Amino acid sequence: MTSATLSQRARAALPGGVSHELRYRAPHPLFIKRALGAEKWDVEGRRYIDFKMGSASQMLGHGHPDVITALRQQAARAIFSADCHEMEIEWAEWVNRLYPCADRTRFTASGSEATMLALRLGRAWSGKERILRIDGHYHGWHDHALKGAKPGSNRATSLGVPQAVSDLIDVCAADPQAMESALQDDRIGTVIIEASGANYGSVPLPTDRLRALHDVARAAGVVLIFDEIITGFRWSPGGRQARDGVTPDLTTLAKIVTGGLPGGAVCGRAEIMALMNNAATRDGLSPPVSHKGTFNGSPLIAAGALAALPHLASGKPQAQADAMAERLRNGLNALMNRHGISGCAYGESSTCHLLFGASDPAALTPAQIRAVPPALVAGLRGGLLARGVDLMSHTSCVTSLAHTPELIDEALAAFDDVLAELARDGVVS
Ligand code: PMP
Repeated sequence: MTSATLSQRARAALPGGVSHELRYRAPHPLFIKRALGAEKWDVEGRRYIDFKMGSASQMLGHGHPDVITALRQQAARAIFSADCHEMEIEWAEWVNRLYPCADRTRFTASGSEATMLALRLGRAWSGKERILRIDGHYHGWHDHALKGAKPGSNRATSLGVPQAVSDLIDVCAADPQAMESALQDDRIGTVIIEASGANYGSVPLPTDRLRALHDVARAAGVVLIFDEIITGFRWSPGGRQARDGVTPDLTTLAKIVTGGLPGGAVCGRAEIMALMNNAATRDGLSPPVSHKGTFNGSPLIAAGALAALPHLASGKPQAQADAMAERLRNGLNALMNRHGISGCAYGESSTCHLLFGASDPAALTPAQIRAVPPALVAGLRGGLLARGVDLMSHTSCVTSLAHTPELIDEALAAFDDVLAELARDGVVS
């Protein structure tokens, strides 16, 4: 069995042969059989150092023993009965303790469901249908998140999204003056911001700018949502808001809040979250904001989350992952220098992004940063995969508790070869 033969079979069973469009790869994606720590193995037995880490969900590394034990024990007790259980209370209490905005938490079945719910809450609380979001920030794949997801496009990135929905979404640059001027339109009641900056921080959002955006939103009196689906439990145990002392009204979480299992959450101010309380009535509706979802807060996921949370709350996984990303960034900058390639490695916390042709990401627009030539991205990623290193997406990496200095140095040796090859072939200069 090879990835090539599996891909052929996959294309007859799954559209494009994949379950997520970003997993598509020409000539074919890898089919992975096993993952442990910061490594994974494909169906042909080839081993990879993993910088994708489950789309940044596996903060503790693949297969953390405490999470596996908890899942085994809970699976034997009850996988899912669609009832209330004690673990969901403890899980929400963790989130409410760690996140400054969180008085209450409601669990969802994915990150996209979390942003969908947060936007509905923003609209219900403000009584205004229009949403302001930032160009290029990612908030999931649903109808209300697609206009503005591709920087500079100002349109939904998919067919099938009603124009009437896109017309309710305004898009502005990640710039306080641009936001202030957009918020002159008093039909806007909600602002959503990707707390890392666009695409897990490939377009940096410095803290003074995030604070200024927060201040502009506060002055306009809109509901402010931070999408901390990447930054939550990664930038710090309490996400970006706890690290930098900038607090929104509502926060969306996923990926790590579940201990790396499927699911998500919205947490926030008690008055807004109370719109989901069945005991409340508004405009004849009880609860005023409807939120369902068969697998919300499921006991199996809660058990995994509760096994992961004591580790995540300690700050130790974040410190290790940050140190390993810093080692990777420093090593890559040294390599670019040595090969005479113009560009840099940058990124906050446990992320690392490679930029070619410019050395100061802060001076570039999102569109410029995303404009690395496709042939260069394909050459870099393909060369690294052939040498057993898998990136997260584009030219970016995330690290975890399981990354070690030895693994980073081994990955840097692969980068060294690939960058030398790309420079020799004139793909980079
Ligand atoms: N928002 C952000 C910032 C994300 O990174 C993601 C997932 N990459 C989402 C929302 C959507 O989450 P999910 O893929 O679980 O629907």
